[in-house]
Amino acid sequence: MMPRLAITMGDVAGIGPEIIVRAWPQLVAMANPVVIGDAHWLEDASALVGSLAQLQPITSMTDAHPAIDVIPFLQPYPDRLDAVSAGEVSAKAGRAAYDFLVTAIDMALRGEVDAIVTCPLHKESLHQAGVAFPGHTEILADRTKSDRHAMLLVSRDLAVAHVTLHTSMRDAVASITADGVKNAIELLHGLLPQLIGRTPRLAVCALNPHASDGGLFGDEEERLIHPAVDACRAAGVDVVGPLPADAVWLHSMNKAYDGIVAMYHDQGHIPMKMRYARQLVNVTAGLPIIRTSVAHGTAFDIAGQGVADASSLVLAADVACRLVGAASLRDRR
Ligand SMILES: [Zn+2]
Repeated sequence: MMPRLAITMGDVAGIGPEIIVRAWPQLVAMANPVVIGDAHWLEDASALVGSLAQLQPITSMTDAHPAIDVIPFLQPYPDRLDAVSAGEVSAKAGRAAYDFLVTAIDMALRGEVDAIVTCPLHKESLHQAGVAFPGHTEILADRTKSDRHAMLLVSRDLAVAHVTLHTSMRDAVASITADGVKNAIELLHGLLPQLIGRTPRLAVCALNPHASDGGLFGDEEERLIHPAVDACRAAGVDVVGPLPADAVWLHSMNKAYDGIVAMYHDQGHIPMKMRYARQLVNVTAGLPIIRTSVAHGTAFDIAGQGVADASSLVLAADVACRLVGAASLRDRR
């Protein structure tokens, strides 16, 4: 049995619709995918990409018969998004993206799909639609009632967990706690064996330059990060740190670690994107459901042109399938 995946379209004005259609042959080769999205935008994307696959509207997973030439899709609301233009922020598209996502989350919670794979949504459109969450991770955490979660950026040989995420730099620094650091280490330690098949080696980045040089500039290492790392090491986790972040990233070039804990968004994102470019996937750890995502945004600048690269979506589906496989192995034990 191949894993059942709900693929959410994200913001229709972005590259979501076209990357789904472009990736479709690879998606059906590894899984039983269904699209949660808009019929009209899916049709346009098919024309754009030159796909001959037939679109199959469904109302429940039992009707879905995905194949290389059949794309089953579920549209959770009746109204059309004709007024939305590719590459433009709109409340309508923001609301629809939210509806696609919560529909997929609920299907996963009910066990109708094994995992959800999400295409990008646009934070401004979401905001205009009156949705009070900054992004996917926060919506997922709220809808599944998970307070212990972390966003991981995953490549073929390295994963990064973030202690703080979509928040201002000022708030990020202020909201780092020993508990938050411990949480990120534990989630990374818990998830990575499912992808690499063994106990992972982890490193934790310091917040301050040079890990504060013994307290010369900052005390977060001594006060918050050290105690968290020590507690995890005492519990048997293979983890070092806090180490100066530049040294952690340099050592990681020699495959010294399987996972890195970053204190804030760009401490993890910049080096990962420079090294792996599009070969990256987002995974939300700590949820009761499996969720992966493309690791790029809506790309409004090229949306609707049929030139978007679908490789991150293919990789996101692949990681979701591996996590589903690991979970079913664990259940059988
Ligand atoms: Zn982000």
